[in-house]
Amino acid sequence: MGRKILFILLLFLISSMLFGADTDIFSFAKSISGKVIWDSRTGSGQISTSRYIYNFIPGVPWVVTDKGDKIGQDAIYIKNGMVMIPDALAKAVTSYNGTAAKKSASGHRVAAIFIDPGHGGKDPGAIGTHKKNGRSFKVMEKSAVLDVGKNLRNKLVSTYPDKKILMSRTGDTYPTLDERVKMANRVKLGPNETILFVSIHANASLKPQANGFEVWYLPQEYRRTVVDSQSINSTNKNLLSAVNTIAEEELSMESELLAKSVMSGMKDKIGKDIPCRGIKQESWFVVRNAKMPSILIEIGFVTNPKEGELLSSASYLQKISDGIYNGIKDFVYTFEHSGKK
Ligand SMILES: [Zn+2]
Repeated sequence: MGRKILFILLLFLISSMLFGADTDIFSFAKSISGKVIWDSRTGSGQISTSRYIYNFIPGVPWVVTDKGDKIGQDAIYIKNGMVMIPDALAKAVTSYNGTAAKKSASGHRVAAIFIDPGHGGKDPGAIGTHKKNGRSFKVMEKSAVLDVGKNLRNKLVSTYPDKKILMSRTGDTYPTLDERVKMANRVKLGPNETILFVSIHANASLKPQANGFEVWYLPQEYRRTVVDSQSINSTNKNLLSAVNTIAEEELSMESELLAKSVMSGMKDKIGKDIPCRGIKQESWFVVRNAKMPSILIEIGFVTNPKEGELLSSASYLQKISDGIYNGIKDFVYTFEHSGKK
C-alpha cells in the first residue's frame, strides 16, 4: 500500500516535471502582462508586452525578440489544440522581460557615436611648418586629428559600454568622404535611436596669425532626403515630404545643440590657450550626407606658430579630446533625459 502510493506520487512528480509545469501560451502571456497574437495562416505567433515582442513558431526551439535577441530553450508546442510553452522557456522569457529595455526617460537614445578624423593616408590635410629652438618641424592635420579621435574614442568607450563607438579610421589610411558617410549610415539603429557624427579637422590659413577653434553644423535650410520611402513604408509623396521636413528640422536642431555643447566643452578645456571662433553653419560634404546629428570641429590652426606647437603636443591633444568628450557627454545626457528633444 505504502509502496503503491509512493510509486503513484513519484509518477505524478515525474510527469509534472515533464509536462505538468508547462503552461498554455495565453495563461503565460497573462502572467507577464502580455498579449498573444496568433497567425493561423503562417502558424506563427507573438507575445507582446509593454517592453518587448517575442516571436515564436511551434516546434522551433527558440523565440526571437524584437531587439533581435534569441531566447533558446525548448520549443513551444501544440498539444490537444493548445499552444503550450515549456516551463524552462517560460522562465527564460519571464526573466528577459524583467530586464528593462535600454530606454531613456525621453524614449530617445544615442545608440552610437561615429568619430571621423579627417584626411589620412595620401591626404595629409593642412600642414604647418614652424621653427622651435632653431629647428623646423611640421604639424600635419591628419595626425593631430587622429590622435584627438582616438583619445575621444577611448573615453567614450569606457563611459558608454552600451553604445557603439566607431571610427572612420584608426590608422594612417584614407577612406573617401563618401565611404565615411556610408560607414556611418550603415550602422543599424532601433526605433528612436540616434547616431552622432563627429568629424574632426584642423584649420589652415595663409595668414599665420589666424587662430582659434570652431565648430560647424548643418544649416537649417539645407534640404535633403532624410527619410526614404522604404523606411516609412509609403509611396505617398505628400506624407513623405512632411515626414522629411520634421525629421530634417529635428536633425539640424540636434546638430546645433551638439555643436553648442561641444564648443562649450572645448572652451572649458582650451579656452585659455586659444580663442573660440564660435559656431558656424556650413553644408560640408561629410556632414550634409550623414542622416544623423552631425558636427565638424576645427581644433585649431596648424599654420599658427603657437597653435602649431600646441597641436604637436600629446598632452594638449588630450585636452582637446577631453573638451569634446565633455561636450558630447552633456549633449547625450540632455538628449536622453529631456521629455521631448
Ligand atoms: Zn581638414
